[in-house]
Amino acid sequence: MDRLLPVLLLHALTALCSCFTSTVFAQQAGTARPNIIFIMADDHAYQAVSAYGSRLIQTPNIDRIGREGAIMKNGFVTNSVCSPSRAVILTGKYSHVNGLRDNGTYFNGAQQTLPKILRANGYHTAIVGKWHLWSEPTGFDHWNILPAQGHYYNPPFIKMGKDTAYKGYVTDVITDLALQWIDQHKKGPFFLMLHHKAPHRNFMPPLKYLHKYDNTAFPLPHNFYDDYRNRPALQRQQITVAHDLDIRYDSKIPCDTCAVTKINDWAPAEYQREIERLTAAERRQWDSVYQLEYEQFKKIHDSASLVKFQFRRYMEDYLRCILSVDDNVGRVLDYLDKHGLAENTIVIYTSDQGFYLGEHGLYDKRFMYDESFRTPMVIRYPAKIRPKQQVNAFTLNLDIAPTLLDYAGISIPADMQGASMQPLLQKGKAPGWRKEIYYHYYELSFGLTRHYGIYTGRYKLMHFYNPINAWELYDLKKDKQEMNNLYDNPKYAKIVQQLKTRLRRLQQHYKDDIGTEGYGRR
Ligand code: CA
Repeated sequence: MDRLLPVLLLHALTALCSCFTSTVFAQQAGTARPNIIFIMADDHAYQAVSAYGSRLIQTPNIDRIGREGAIMKNGFVTNSVCSPSRAVILTGKYSHVNGLRDNGTYFNGAQQTLPKILRANGYHTAIVGKWHLWSEPTGFDHWNILPAQGHYYNPPFIKMGKDTAYKGYVTDVITDLALQWIDQHKKGPFFLMLHHKAPHRNFMPPLKYLHKYDNTAFPLPHNFYDDYRNRPALQRQQITVAHDLDIRYDSKIPCDTCAVTKINDWAPAEYQREIERLTAAERRQWDSVYQLEYEQFKKIHDSASLVKFQFRRYMEDYLRCILSVDDNVGRVLDYLDKHGLAENTIVIYTSDQGFYLGEHGLYDKRFMYDESFRTPMVIRYPAKIRPKQQVNAFTLNLDIAPTLLDYAGISIPADMQGASMQPLLQKGKAPGWRKEIYYHYYELSFGLTRHYGIYTGRYKLMHFYNPINAWELYDLKKDKQEMNNLYDNPKYAKIVQQLKTRLRRLQQHYKDDIGTEGYGRR
């Protein structure tokens, strides 16, 4: 009993606090607080969003959010991997402060979060879809989440702690469940986190799109055959299209005799588990399509052709998944129109980070290089945000929590490390807005190296410190693709020193004490 007492007291105080703040808002009759729908995909590269100039795909519904609101042209993440990004969004704090540095860590749900604050201020709160933070969601009136990574077909869910399952394709199912919840709370104000699993690896498309992109040529990016010279962290990673995508798991080739890639020795079983979720009729449809791919595969006899084949298979399935995400974004926007909710609802579409579509020969994310450091971010709020804006300021996933609190008329806690984007969105600029970005990545899986760095627009300086010790500097005006590491070039010695000073200042500002491990070679 003694151990329970402080907990009970805390609950009582929280309840009292919620009542008080709700009462304050109830007294402000007539102030229409916005509803908020935060839609997040998993691993959606900005290169696969037409609003960002994609040549690969049309995403008319995601584009529509940006056209009727703002497109953040320079949206970035602070730590480019799934769970950490989610924790940053929930808390408005860097990974070293919210405690979740990598995918293997439980999120501490006892801490202050965006949904908790909104809920305490009278919002109905829910999360539907991918959670991926291991601990049970807190701060939500309603939660219905995928277990761990979830499944694409006929997916199981955990609804308020109980196992359940639904028929259909995961992106459609998540949207169905989200719209059902909104329908019950449309009087508002509500806050919904609608988190898609797609287009996460292994990119299993909806059956209706299995023939999309047939006969489409996907040119390899110009730096696909990057030789990783002067960049030891790239030399040791295991996320290449050429060597690390698995023929069965990733390319879906039903080849029982094919060798499994070293990094993916779990993949055949994982692939089998996924397709066994299909019904018999669905499975026949699936097999008929991928058997044709197998026929193509059997004609390949050289490694260069195999790489191109796997790249094509990767792009086809990845983009097919995104078509479905975009369709379902459209369903949400249509619902808001139909029910007269569009004007007073903030809709954000983003991804938990960017992704490589063959740049540097890679798939996946994690590095501070451009394609995974950036993330697509579009925001619409017709009542307050004027349409057709392109915001060029550096914005972060760290800014989402403070921005939404600001729009909801709730004070932003002083310990949140992001900033409200409201001034940028209202006036197009904000005095004192950040001119540089601090990044810190920790996870060692897939041959990755821990690194932190600073990005100034013109330059990017990174320090890879565990398990190797190496610095990289890029002059992005001359080298947009980050191929030429200038760290040891004497002409840049002064720039390196200046950037290091700014980097240390950022680490002090964000209270990231990297200790002796992080400094390494000066
Ligand atoms: Ca992700």
